[in-house]
Amino acid sequence: MQLTVDTPKNKPTFSRTNPFQAKVLKNVNLNGAGSNKETRHIELSLKGSGLTYNPGDALGVFPENDPELVSALLAEMKWDPEMPVTISKQGYTLPLKEALTTHFEITLLTKKILQQAAELTENEELKKLTLPENVNLLKEYIYGRDLLDLLHDFGPWNAGAQEIVSLLRKMPPRLYSIASSLNAHPEEVHLTIGAVRYSSHGRNRKGVCSVQCAERTKEGDTLPVFVQPNKHFHLPESHETDIIMVGPGTGIAPFRSFIEERAVNKASGRTWLFFGDQHAATDFLYKEELEQYQKDGVLTRLDTAFSRDSEQKVYVQHKMLENSKELYTWLENGACFYVCGDKEHMAKDVHNALIDVIEKEGAMSREEAESFVNSLQKEGRYQRDVY
Ligand SMILES: Cc1cc2nc3c(=O)[nH]c(=O)nc-3n(C[C@H](O)[C@H](O)[C@H](O)COP(=O)(O)OP(=O)(O)OC[C@H]3O[C@@H](n4cnc5c(N)ncnc54)[C@H](O)[C@@H]3O)c2cc1C
Repeated sequence: MQLTVDTPKNKPTFSRTNPFQAKVLKNVNLNGAGSNKETRHIELSLKGSGLTYNPGDALGVFPENDPELVSALLAEMKWDPEMPVTISKQGYTLPLKEALTTHFEITLLTKKILQQAAELTENEELKKLTLPENVNLLKEYIYGRDLLDLLHDFGPWNAGAQEIVSLLRKMPPRLYSIASSLNAHPEEVHLTIGAVRYSSHGRNRKGVCSVQCAERTKEGDTLPVFVQPNKHFHLPESHETDIIMVGPGTGIAPFRSFIEERAVNKASGRTWLFFGDQHAATDFLYKEELEQYQKDGVLTRLDTAFSRDSEQKVYVQHKMLENSKELYTWLENGACFYVCGDKEHMAKDVHNALIDVIEKEGAMSREEAESFVNSLQKEGRYQRDVY
């Protein structure tokens, strides 16, 4: 018998170009008092969207700029917030304040922005900075600075708001690894978002999307979202295959999804999670859930590394090396190996630790261990979601 699905013809399909306004059901800080970090667990409703996802996929979020930063820009330039500006490519107009809040990227400078801005000022310093021989100085200037710095540092400007905003790029969405399984939470999607805050050039700076989620997103609000499938990061087809997951910090996100999915499917394959962060007392994200999964047998092994709890910093890669014999046995048994989180340092250290483990326990040369890891990658048994 053929089953037909009743989908109204005019129902919109949501995508990056037509994001769904997802209602915030929950927004809590996973870190305890006194932590150096703030990691939000956010639950969104997908009800009525028709959106679906698989464990390993990401969610795109279109953020808005910090209203305080927008006000500071308007004040710096003495611009009228209500002045209509044309959004060039789209050919429509928005009041300036709204355009700066919702449409334009104002927190990141590029070489192109500086070069074009140099045409709009008599300021010799900016003109000098954009000369080809000063490209390194220009890069240095750009790092850790934003539009407010540029406008403040290189005036007076021979340009109005329209000409300045025409230099800017459209705000890009931010991607977040989905932290839930749709089977465990029908019509919901959960995220694990680390708030990005830092100080540079004498000003406290805030990551656009992560701090919007941390400071200005309340339950009942909506966020414009879309699903970004990830074909290269997913659970093995067989429920019997063992999985090893290395996900410190917000890297835990997709593995919460994996574990939830495996719990729903009553998968028989073993699961091993390496988690790490600064302090066990305040930064053990999803501790209770993970310990419960361990008791229930869904999570076979949980190894943690809290780098600032001991004199010698211990990271996830050290835990891998400590357990090298068993890790190698799991791999020999066909386990899939996953890494998620920091691309700059963690993913490289974990990659090298994996080679170390194989070299030692497989009694291989460095080259042999490397080619073993390459073949794991080719077979799709070593997958990474790093950023
Ligand atoms: C596939 C994928 C999955 C991801 N999953 C997650 C996830 O699950 N959880 C999560 O929290 N994030 C995740 N991210 C990262 C996320 O997309 C955002 O990049 C992050 O939240 C920061 O965005 P933001 O808008 O808050 O900050 P932005 O406004 O984009 O600012 C971040 C930028 O600030 C600058 N910066 C940061 N620190 C400093 C400093 N000390 N000095 C100078 N400049 C600095 C850097 O240029 C950095 O790129 C993922 C990224 C990808 C690509």
